[in-house]
Amino acid sequence: MTDIKATAAAIAPFCAGGGLITDCSMAEQTSFRCGGRAAIFAVPSSEKGLASMTAFLSENRVPFMFMGNGSNLLFTDAGYEGVVIKAGPDTMGDIRVDGDTITAGAGASLSRISKTAAAEGLTGLEFASGIPGSLGGAVFMNAGAYGGEMKQVLVSVRSMDLIGNIIERKAEDLGLSYRKSIFQENGEFILGAVIRLERGDRDTIEAKMRDLAAQRTAKQPLSFPSAGSFFKRPEGYFAGKLIEDCGLKGLRVGGAQVSSLHAGFVINCGGASATDVIDLMKVVQETVLDRFGVMLEPEVRIIGSY
Ligand SMILES: Cc1cc2nc3c(=O)[nH]c(=O)nc-3n(C[C@H](O)[C@H](O)[C@H](O)COP(=O)(O)OP(=O)(O)OC[C@H]3O[C@@H](n4cnc5c(N)ncnc54)[C@H](O)[C@@H]3O)c2cc1C
Repeated sequence: MTDIKATAAAIAPFCAGGGLITDCSMAEQTSFRCGGRAAIFAVPSSEKGLASMTAFLSENRVPFMFMGNGSNLLFTDAGYEGVVIKAGPDTMGDIRVDGDTITAGAGASLSRISKTAAAEGLTGLEFASGIPGSLGGAVFMNAGAYGGEMKQVLVSVRSMDLIGNIIERKAEDLGLSYRKSIFQENGEFILGAVIRLERGDRDTIEAKMRDLAAQRTAKQPLSFPSAGSFFKRPEGYFAGKLIEDCGLKGLRVGGAQVSSLHAGFVINCGGASATDVIDLMKVVQETVLDRFGVMLEPEVRIIGSY
C-alpha cells in the first residue's frame, strides 16, 4: 500500500473510537498470537461507516479484507499490505431475541449469543457455546462442533457487497456445507444473521453447555494459543487420528507444536512465528500424504503467500 497515512486519515471518520491502528500487530488480534503486521486495522463505527470505508478503498484500489474475532486466522510473517476490517463486538454486535428467533450482528460472539439463548430457555445453539468466534466468522466458516453446525440454526444472513448494497439471503441460498459458505467465494461482508431455536428448559440447556465445555477442557489444549483444529476433516477420516498414527504428536518446529493433547491442534508454545506454524503444517501434510495417501487441507485461513 503506497500511502498508509493518507488512507488512514481518509477512513478514520468511518471508524469506531480507537478503532483504527496503523502498522498493527496481527499477532495481537488473532488467537494464534503469531504472524506479521497489517498496514491498517480498522473497526467500522456502523454499517454506514463500513459502506463508506469499502467504497473509498475500492475507488482507490487499496486492498482490504474482513475478520471477526481472529480465531481461525493466521497472517504470514510478511503481514498484510492493506486494510483489515473487523466486525467489532461493540459496533456490530447487537443481540435481539424475539420469540424463538435471535437476530444478531456479525460482531457478536457465539458464546454471548449462546448464553443469551440459554437465559431465554432456547435450545439448539449449545454446540456453539465454546467456539471462540464471532457470528460473522461462524457463518463464513459454517462453524460446527459436537454434531451441530451453523447450517442447522440459521434462517437468513444479511451481507454487504463490495459496492455497498445490502443483500438478505435465506439459509438455503448460502451454500452451507462442511466449513463452507458462499461468502468464501463472493467477498461480501457479513453484517448479521437470524437464528431460529426451539423452546427448551434453561437448566438442561446450561447443563449441556457445561458438559461440552468440560469435554473441550479435557481434550483440547486451551491453555496454548491456537486457531482450533488446524486441518479440515478429510472425508472418511479424522485429521487428528491420521496425524497421531504417523507419530507426529508433540512434533515441534521452532515455537510451533503438534499438540500432544490433541494432534489436530497446532499450538504456539511460545514465540512461534507464522513461518514455524506453516513449516510444521507442511511436515504434517507430507508425512500424512506419504503414509496414508490423504492430503490434509488447512481449516485455518492463511493470509499471505507461503
Ligand atoms: C480453541 C479454539 C477452538 C475452536 N473450536 C472450534 C470448533 O469447535 N468448531 C469450529 O467450527 N471452529 C472452531 N474454532 C475455529 C474458529 O473459532 C471458528 O472458525 C470461528 O467460526 C471463526 O470465527 P472468527 O470470528 O474468529 O473468524 P476469523 O478468524 O476472524 O475469520 C475467519 C474467516 O471468516 C472471515 N470473516 C470473519 N468475519 C467476517 C465477516 N463479518 N464478513 C465476511 N467475512 C468474515 C475472515 O475473512 C476469515 O476468512 C476454534 C478455534 C479455537 C482457537
